Amino acid sequence: MALNERDFFTEKTESKPMSLSCPQCRHRDDYQITWLRRTKKDRIPNGADSRDRAIFEKVRDHLYRVDDFVNCARCRRRFEIPSHQSMVFL
Ligand SMILES: [Zn+2]
Repeated sequence: MALNERDFFTEKTESKPMSLSCPQCRHRDDYQITWLRRTKKDRIPNGADSRDRAIFEKVRDHLYRVDDFVNCARCRRRFEIPSHQSMVFL
């Protein structure tokens, strides 16, 4: 069975404020966004093949955004968080 990239990390959920502006009414506010903190494991899990090992060498600790949408604090409309802000390397 091939390893998933997720097997290389210890995952912990955390919440962080993020400044976003609503595309409908232009209101800017801070929103609490849920992220997954992925910390690389000290050693590669059992069952890793050479391909897994190459990936494991390359992966780094990062935050992965879980929330895709927020509701505007002013107009209450739902909007999407820009996708280029979906991952932050630590
Ligand atoms: Zn709005």
